[in-house]
Amino acid sequence: MGAGAARWSCARCKVSVGRLDGSTTPLPTTWSRTGASTFCLICSRALAGEAAMDSAPPACSRHERFLLRRDAVIRFEIGRTPLAPDRIIARACRTSPKKVASVRKALGDIPFHHPTAARGGV
Ligand SMILES: [Zn+2]
Repeated sequence: MGAGAARWSCARCKVSVGRLDGSTTPLPTTWSRTGASTFCLICSRALAGEAAMDSAPPACSRHERFLLRRDAVIRFEIGRTPLAPDRIIARACRTSPKKVASVRKALGDIPFHHPTAARGGV
């Protein structure tokens, strides 16, 4: 099986993309794949938020769930486009650049297990 398909369709909203001439095309970079299913960007984002809500403790209030979902969507978007400015991510997530900056900062506080470049100057 190659990586291309004549048409990709979203397993959630059923939107589909493909070339007019019917030739194969790789999965759009904005789409994501989970198992055999592919999801468009809108749905990938929504799924990231829904997963966060599903993993919320039952005691969470509606407002807390809303916040969890919002943060998860922002994290998803930062993970997808780490180099995008806060305001671009904020627009995609319909939130404020300030909120994106705070989520990004929190992410930065998590120790990643990849070798960091030597800072030098010892
Ligand atoms: Zn979709």
